[in-house]
Amino acid sequence: MCLFCKIVNKEIPSNIILEDDEFIAFHDINPKAPIHILAIPKVHVDSFNDVSPELMANMTVFIQSIAKEVQIVQSGYRVITNIGENGGQEVKHLHFHVLGGTKLKWGHFSDADTQGHF
Ligand code: 5GP
Ligand code: ZN
Repeated sequence: MCLFCKIVNKEIPSNIILEDDEFIAFHDINPKAPIHILAIPKVHVDSFNDVSPELMANMTVFIQSIAKEVQIVQSGYRVITNIGENGGQEVKHLHFHVLGGTKLKWGHFSDADTQGHF
């Protein structure tokens, strides 16, 4: 069973913010912003590559409810999902990072040559 399935099953403790029948949201153990929450489906899905439109529709509403719960709707926030090797996905259970609580930087994402690819 994967790490986040164990969090869903409460075999590994986490700091839960919101939970319903389909999803769970908890604080990231290594926060990269004052607010850094992970939103995951309870069912195991490897990554965004494999998620159904139906699950994503409900995930959208769940993420919106997280933003309301932690009061970042007006101040703004960022939602990120890393996918696979190049995306930097470490945990192979679909998760959305919800980051906020400060003005976030917009990064320099790679050291690759970004010119002339299109
Ligand atoms: P990824 O790099 O796969 O997009 O993100 C995985 C995230 O899970 C990382 O931000 C990491 O800090 C977080 N994480 C890894 N293990 C645990 C854990 O046991 N508990 C919690 N709450 N977060 C974790
Ligand atoms: Zn899992």
